[in-house]
Amino acid sequence: FFITFEGIEASGKTTQINLLYDYLKSIGKNVIKTREPGGTKIGQKIREILLSKWDEKFPYIAELLLYEADRNIHIHNIIKPSLEADYIVLSDRYIDSTTAYQHYARGIDYEIVSYLNTLATDRLKPNLTFLIDIPAQISLKRLSKTKDRIESEDIEFHKKLREGFLKIAENEKDRFVVIDGTMDIMEIHKIIVDTLKQRKII
Ligand code: C5P
Ligand code: MG
Repeated sequence: FFITFEGIEASGKTTQINLLYDYLKSIGKNVIKTREPGGTKIGQKIREILLSKWDEKFPYIAELLLYEADRNIHIHNIIKPSLEADYIVLSDRYIDSTTAYQHYARGIDYEIVSYLNTLATDRLKPNLTFLIDIPAQISLKRLSKTKDRIESEDIEFHKKLREGFLKIAENEKDRFVVIDGTMDIMEIHKIIVDTLKQRKII
């Protein structure tokens, strides 16, 4: 099973992945956790490029192509081999992040983003996606002072992102479970575990 976690900055994706990973291990499941960008050694380098501040032009299209390069390397090295070995794969971000950031927030055509997502993934879609939803204001409040390049964007950017994620979830209701990320951490964890049980993943 391939499960992804999506949401805006500081929504709690990583916290929830870690909790779910530990839980699945504790009940004896084969599970791996991974992330985008930066789930591979090559991807780590791409992540550094993407998150650094540069004194040169860094066009949105270049950004998009780097996210997709990271993703393509990620599916071939980590995601596909793990799924073939019957592991549960938990990924911190995947295709929906690119649709939300590069289309809804940056404004690149939907068709281009969608085509590149398909190209980079060989059409491999998650079986289940948790969208951890928080308002843009809360995201900005939770972010530390040491912000990376993208986290430094303004409130309007974060609002567009949030709305984008919600639209994506609305369009693919069967794949998505939207969770209110302002709830207590353990309450969210319980909803996630219950969802896996309901869907007979565990
Ligand atoms: O969630 P994480 O901190 O790993 O994300 C790394 C950074 O990449 C974040 O600042 C996020 O906003 C950005 N990002 C992006 N476009 C994507 C995926 C992530 O701008 N498609
Ligand atoms: Mg971040």
